[in-house]
Amino acid sequence: MPSDTLPSRAELWRRLRPCMLGEPKPNTLPGGRSEALRRLHAYDPSAYGRTRNYLDAPVSRLSPYLRHGMISAVEVREHLRTKFPHDSARCEEFLRQLAWRDFFEKVLAWYGRSIDDDLEEPKHGVARSSRLPLDVLHGQTGLPCIDGMLAELFETGYLHNHARLWFAAYLCHFRGVRWQQGAKLFRQFLYDGDIASNSSSWQWVESTFAAKPYFMNRTNIATFSNGRWCDTCRVRCPFDADYPTLQQRLFGGATAPLANPTSAIPLLPPSPDGSPALTSPVPATAELPTSDCGTLDSAPSVQPASDLVWVHDAALSWEDPALKANPTATVVFVIDEPRLRAEPWAAHRWAFVLDGLDDLFQHLPNEHRHLWIGDPVECLSELARRSGAGTIHVSEHPNPWVVETCEILRRTFRVVVHPRPTLAEYTDEPRRFSRYWERVAPQILGYRPKPKSRWHS
Ligand SMILES: Cc1cc2nc3c(=O)[nH]c(=O)nc-3n(C[C@H](O)[C@H](O)[C@H](O)COP(=O)(O)OP(=O)(O)OC[C@H]3O[C@@H](n4cnc5c(N)ncnc54)[C@H](O)[C@@H]3O)c2cc1C
Repeated sequence: MPSDTLPSRAELWRRLRPCMLGEPKPNTLPGGRSEALRRLHAYDPSAYGRTRNYLDAPVSRLSPYLRHGMISAVEVREHLRTKFPHDSARCEEFLRQLAWRDFFEKVLAWYGRSIDDDLEEPKHGVARSSRLPLDVLHGQTGLPCIDGMLAELFETGYLHNHARLWFAAYLCHFRGVRWQQGAKLFRQFLYDGDIASNSSSWQWVESTFAAKPYFMNRTNIATFSNGRWCDTCRVRCPFDADYPTLQQRLFGGATAPLANPTSAIPLLPPSPDGSPALTSPVPATAELPTSDCGTLDSAPSVQPASDLVWVHDAALSWEDPALKANPTATVVFVIDEPRLRAEPWAAHRWAFVLDGLDDLFQHLPNEHRHLWIGDPVECLSELARRSGAGTIHVSEHPNPWVVETCEILRRTFRVVVHPRPTLAEYTDEPRRFSRYWERVAPQILGYRPKPKSRWHS
C-alpha cells in the first residue's frame, strides 16, 4: 500500500527483519480500520448460530481487527443491534461468542502475566514436554488434517475456532506438549495472535482453566470439516475411536489428577525421520541483543508538544479514546523491538499491522505522528524529552507490556490511561464463562436470553 506518512515498505521490511519470520508476500489480509468497518458492514450473522462450528461456516473473520483495536467489540455489538433492531435473536449467538473475547480480556486483566502459567491444576495426571516437535514446526506430522491446519496457519494466518481447538487438543493430549508451546506458535502466526484469548483458550483445552480436558475424535473432525481431510485419508488415525476409548488412551481413564503424575507419560509418535522431538527454533530472550531506540520517521523532526499519545498495537483506531481525547497531541507508535526479537511475528502479521498504522496515520487530524523502533520506555521517554512533553496518554489495555510500560513511565512522566468502553461490567474473579455470561448477558444483548440446555463453547 502506498504511504505518504510512513517510510517505504521496503525500508520497514529491512528494519523489521530481526522481528520477522518468513518473507513478505503479496495478497496478505488488508489491515486497518477502514477495512474493518467495510467487513463489519458487509457481515450478516443470520446463519452463525446454526453453522458456526463448521469450518466452511460464514464466520466474521473480524478477530484480527478486534485484536489490534482497529474496531472494538462494543462497536461491533452496537452496529449489529442497530442493524437488526427488531430481530435481536439473529445476533444472539454471535454476541455470545464475542463475549468470550471480553471474558478472556477480563481474565488477562485479573491474572496479568500469570496467564502464561497454569491457572489451575490440570484435571489429568499426564506429564507434558516443553519441546515443540520439529515435525509440528515443519507441518509434517504425516496426519493430513493436522498438516492441513498447520499449512493454513503458516500460509494464511487464520484458523477457524474448531480447527484451533483440534490442533490444541492434538498438541497437548496426543503429543504431550505443554500448552505454552502451542500458544507461542499461534501468537507468532495468527493475524489475531494475542495473549488473552490465546493463552486462555489453550488453558481451556488443556484443562488448566476448565473442569476437564477438551479432545475430539475422528467423527467430530470429519463432520465439522465436511470430510475435508478424512474422506481421502489413508493413514492410521490417532483420533479414530469413541470418546471413552480415547479418554482411556490419553488420560488412563482419569480426568482428575493422578497420585503420581509422571507415571502416565504418553508415548509420543516419532517424527517422520525417526528423530526425537526437538525444541522450537525461536531463540531464548536472554541470548538476544537489545536494540537502541530509533526513529523510523521519514521526516523525523520533533515538534514541541505538551502531550504525547502512545498508540500501542491493540489501539490502531482513530476512535481510540486516548487519541479522541487529544486531537492535537503528538502521536507515536513504537515497534517493541526487544519483545519482538524474542518472539518474532510472521511477515503477514507485520503487513497487516503496517496497513493498520498507515490507515490510522492518514486519518489523524494532526501532522505530528511518529513511528519509532526500540524499547517502548526508552523511545517514549526520548520523544517526550525532545518535544518537552510532560504527559503521556495511552488507552487502557490489559496486555502486560502496556501495563508495565505505563508503570515505568509513571516514575518520570504524568501518564493518563484512558478507559476503553467494554462489552460488560464484571468485577468478580473471572473463572468460568458460564457464570460470567449468566451475569452479563442482559448487558450485552439488551435482554435476558432464554436458558439453553447445553452451551457448546
Ligand atoms: C487454542 C485457541 C487459540 C485461540 N487464539 C486466539 C487468538 O490468539 N486471538 C483471538 O482473537 N482469538 C483466539 N481464539 C479464539 C477464536 O478461535 C477466534 O477469536 C475466532 O476463531 C476468530 O475468528 P472469527 O473472527 O471469524 O470469529 P467469529 O466466529 O466470527 O466470532 C466473532 C468474534 O467473537 C470472538 N470470539 C469468537 N469465538 C471466540 C472464542 N472461542 N474465544 C474468544 N473470542 C471468540 C472473536 O473476537 C471473534 O472475532 C483461540 C481459540 C482457541 C481454541
